Amino acid sequence: MSLSFDIELATHYKSNSQRVRVMSEQWVADNVYCPCCGNSHLRKLKNNTPVSDFVCEKCQKIFELKSKCQHIGTKIAGSAYSKMIERITSATNPELLVLQYSKDYNVQNLVFVPSFFFTPDVIERRPPLSKTARRAGWIGSNILYKNIPQQGKISLITDGLMANIDNTTKAYNHIKKLHVSNIDSRSWILDVLNCINSLRTDDFYLSDVYQYTNYLSQKHPQNLHIEAKVRQQLQVLRDKRFIVFLGNGRYRKVSHSLILS
Ligand SMILES: [Zn+2]
Repeated sequence: MSLSFDIELATHYKSNSQRVRVMSEQWVADNVYCPCCGNSHLRKLKNNTPVSDFVCEKCQKIFELKSKCQHIGTKIAGSAYSKMIERITSATNPELLVLQYSKDYNVQNLVFVPSFFFTPDVIERRPPLSKTARRAGWIGSNILYKNIPQQGKISLITDGLMANIDNTTKAYNHIKKLHVSNIDSRSWILDVLNCINSLRTDDFYLSDVYQYTNYLSQKHPQNLHIEAKVRQQLQVLRDKRFIVFLGNGRYRKVSHSLILS
């Protein structure tokens, strides 16, 4: 496997974003396996396909590629805001691949975010483009990468090293238990998961999660029984093996490595 972009491909393009798009897409088509089913490669779709860049011909999953130089950072530019929100609620929302490359066009990190980690909370509305812009009034979006729980960021390449296919598909099959179609239910489980992730210790108490009651009630103002909802979500996370109950209001996070072994 090569980690270098083929710079020759970009010679006919003037804009940097086009050059990166051409090189990064070809690199994925040549080097990346399907993280969902382990199929050895992803096929590039025609350039005019809206937001979908690749398909796995074995499991039919669609992938969108976003590339960033040097740092992935906290947000990634998305497409039109209304399209992004529409996508989240549809069954055809693509999976996301986030590729980070160096200034000299070498791939350093590649992260796979399953489509069911997208909630409206992850999509930020950008201000409309100014009257003088070519697409005046157009409203874009950002993907708030930092708001996606760590469990939804499966590393395919870390510092230039590609993860083993079997480990990736095992991780995906475990994470798939978090797939919830209803957007409100999805938001709840991911919000509570984010709260648990932000607790510093692996063992925690119910009262630790209750510290987030105000934060959660701001996100879900229509829900007047936040603590009951939190307990319900903890049960869901236990049933899906993301945490275990130790009794007497104590819980423990289940690490990825334990699930994979
Ligand atoms: Zn596949």
